[in-house]
Amino acid sequence: MIHLDGGFGEGGGQILRTALSLSILTGKPFRIEKIRAKRPTPGLMPQHLVSVRAAREISHAYVEGDVLGSTRLVFEPEGIFSGNYRFDIGTAGSVTLVLQTIYLPLAFGSSPSEIVLTGGTHVPFSPSFHFLKEHWVKLLARIGISLELELKRAGFYPKGGGEILARIHPFDFLEPLVLLTRGPLRQVKGYSFYANLDPSVGERQKRQLEKRLRMQNIPHEVIVEELEAVGPNALSFLVARYTYAQLACESLGARGKPAEKVADEAAFALIREISSNATLDVHVADQLLLPLAVVPGESEFQVREITGHLETLREVICEFLPAQIDFRPIQGGYRIRVQGIRLG
Ligand code: ATP
Repeated sequence: MIHLDGGFGEGGGQILRTALSLSILTGKPFRIEKIRAKRPTPGLMPQHLVSVRAAREISHAYVEGDVLGSTRLVFEPEGIFSGNYRFDIGTAGSVTLVLQTIYLPLAFGSSPSEIVLTGGTHVPFSPSFHFLKEHWVKLLARIGISLELELKRAGFYPKGGGEILARIHPFDFLEPLVLLTRGPLRQVKGYSFYANLDPSVGERQKRQLEKRLRMQNIPHEVIVEELEAVGPNALSFLVARYTYAQLACESLGARGKPAEKVADEAAFALIREISSNATLDVHVADQLLLPLAVVPGESEFQVREITGHLETLREVICEFLPAQIDFRPIQGGYRIRVQGIRLG
């Protein structure tokens, strides 16, 4: 049984979610203590609890400690069971983080799976539905992992109530990701999303995104889109498309936060990524580290900085797998090399 300290490194929910995926993928049981010890509300919150339940259902696992607020958990999976599943977080807890807990084992399953998830689709401190669909899924496709995503209804923080559908196909091939050059920047595609707010919010976000990109002479196209959602909110989402790479950044609205500030946060974050030598933005980098560890062969890419999430993930992955993950400083960032291993 693998023993994990949920309070090391980042000390957040990602340690638990990554351990659940790896446990199902490798068949190795684990015990974790001090879950989310470094967060203001330690222990299992609704999103983490649904992640545990989702992992349990797709693996028929024996579980101890799966109650709200629990700071310890035992998880013993039986196998990978493809199928159709439905999980409801019941709050604005992030559905994308629940999906990221179970998609990888299901991609190693014997037949396709269909997952319906209800909760928050656009939530602070987690990737939005659009970040996954326009960015993460496209990078996963390059390594052979195939996911289709549909937004049935947006569920912005703090109301939640959104719904997404994910179809996960067993992979036909797995191929390492070698991304050491971006090539020329073709265009930044921008999205100014809003829901249950005056349409002027969408227009103001768009104008501000355009202003920031124009000031940097970055070729761009920004569209405004109204989303069907339970509560009101807005999102600025930007993806820089290069010949070989893509970088994405986003920012979510909040009550009293001007549309211009939301747009500025997304634009400045993207400009920071563009100004470095990154071939993956920091967020998608930590979301790809786990799949790359189970893709046989050597993957390499560059990031602007080594975040706490990347450091922590490396530790968790290496508890379960003999994968090798190195970080090396280079001009304008870091190079990450992942020697992935073949499962089974
Ligand atoms: P907590 O323990 O507070 O609940 P958590 O469960 O939200 O934490 P974290 O460990 O903080 O989990 O991981 C959050 C994930 O969301 C990471 O993969 C991170 O890269 C991603 N993320 C956070 N902010 C963004 C953003 N703006 N855009 C894309 N991804 C993001």
